[in-house]
Amino acid sequence: MTTTEQLRIGGEWRPTEATFGSIDPFTQMVWARAPEATERDVADAVGAARTAFDDGPWPRWTPEARAEVLYRLADLIERDAAELAGLESQDNGKGIREMTGQMQSLPGWYRYFARLASTVEGRVTNTGKPNFFGYVVDEPVGVVAGILPWNSPLLLLTFKLAPALAAGCTFVAKPSEVAPVSILRFARLFAEAGLPDGVFNTVAGSRAEVGQWLVASPQVDKVTFTGSEGIGSLVGQSAAAQLTDVALELGGKSANIVFADADLDAAVNGLLAGIFAAGGQTCIAGSRALLHESVYDEVIDRVVKRAADIRLGDPRDPATDMGPLASEAQWDKVRRYCDLARKQQVDIRCGGEPAAAGGWFFPPTVMAGVEESHPVWREEIFGPVLACQSFATDDEAYAKANASPYGLAAGVWTNDVRRSFTAARRLQAGSIWVNAYRTLSPSMPFGGFKRSGHGRENGIEGLREFLQTKAVWIETEGLTRDPFTLG
Ligand code: NAD
Repeated sequence: MTTTEQLRIGGEWRPTEATFGSIDPFTQMVWARAPEATERDVADAVGAARTAFDDGPWPRWTPEARAEVLYRLADLIERDAAELAGLESQDNGKGIREMTGQMQSLPGWYRYFARLASTVEGRVTNTGKPNFFGYVVDEPVGVVAGILPWNSPLLLLTFKLAPALAAGCTFVAKPSEVAPVSILRFARLFAEAGLPDGVFNTVAGSRAEVGQWLVASPQVDKVTFTGSEGIGSLVGQSAAAQLTDVALELGGKSANIVFADADLDAAVNGLLAGIFAAGGQTCIAGSRALLHESVYDEVIDRVVKRAADIRLGDPRDPATDMGPLASEAQWDKVRRYCDLARKQQVDIRCGGEPAAAGGWFFPPTVMAGVEESHPVWREEIFGPVLACQSFATDDEAYAKANASPYGLAAGVWTNDVRRSFTAARRLQAGSIWVNAYRTLSPSMPFGGFKRSGHGRENGIEGLREFLQTKAVWIETEGLTRDPFTLG
């Protein structure tokens, strides 16, 4: 049966006149209906968050009191993890193993930021002036608008929401039109956790306007966006027009580098994890493999062999490794890149054509010897397509890895401890994994160099994104000053 979701505004459920269908990528049928927010709904959601911030208790509670709510929220997510994982898997087609793992990790984020919030302390400064006592405090930035993509809705929301709430901010979340259901449903947990009304609000819609209204609102103090580079640039420009603070988490074309001395079993596994987990629909996909020339052929052969065993199927079946791609548009994009590669005689070792399974399935694809100038090497495909190239020297590996407009992540496979430190220093990316790939933690900062974005999520840096600094000067001696000089 098709469910119809509602907006959550100021602690109340709001049905909308219009709704739009959310498609299950496995059945390709509408399985849920999501609310089509109007400009008025967006204004009301921002207004509710504004009132909750300006007049409500949330920013005034002690960090410990806010932490209590976040701990309760974490418990509720734990309780509902299976249900939430099912919703996400149905909405974006990602395998239930992947989504269950993500949902089980979410409570850790809320608990981490609950703890971290109470460690934020101000400081007393030496003002350099004998009659002034000076201190510095951090305050929440205010109303936050979070705009999300479809690929991991609740995890990526949590990267923003957990620190924002811990800091004392209020929030309006806008899920993607491709997979809106889990974030809309998630709002149910907040009242149960004891979050005051208006602290967490949702808007949704099938049109770009909903996000545009949100970013353009003068009532929003900070925009935090995760999505594509192109839309991120528009969001950044619109926020800049309002002089609204903005954080952008954008795309990637991450390099996964295998040195000659690597443990090849682990490296092959890491290459697979980097590009075929979640069907390659992840911003941190290790979509460019740089393989030392001495292991190049062997590694490609082994990846191709492992790729043949990957099971495509119903994303809700735990035996499935890869579900369908999330939408027809995404499937078509992957297909077009592969068609182009085939026309240009790129050496496609496996995959490269829509899967026999039909629907929006696309098989694991490995391409060898992809030229650095080829779009498959340069552009984010956001699908299960691994482009491989060889290198002869370490310098060449770093130069090729860094010759990308993106800089989100990189993987390094080596048993040489010196090389691992050098690689970590030389690679231009926000996250570097040595002998691992696609690992995240609430305490490790995450974000991009170059066109992969700016700002950081997670860790102390992630909390600081939602704080602003206030300097307080207190005159202690009642001295009168010359009003025409700088004090
Ligand atoms: P997208 O840019 O198409 O959409 C992202 C969100 O922006 C959606 O909610 C969409 O409705 C909204 N939007 C669209 N037009 C808008 C506008 N003009 N103003 C405001 N909002 C607007 O991205 P997507 O296709 O949903 O997601 C895939 C992209 O996200 C990939 O490029 C991927 O790399 C990136 N991504 C990045 C990270 C990261 O943390 N760096 C994580 C996941 C995904």
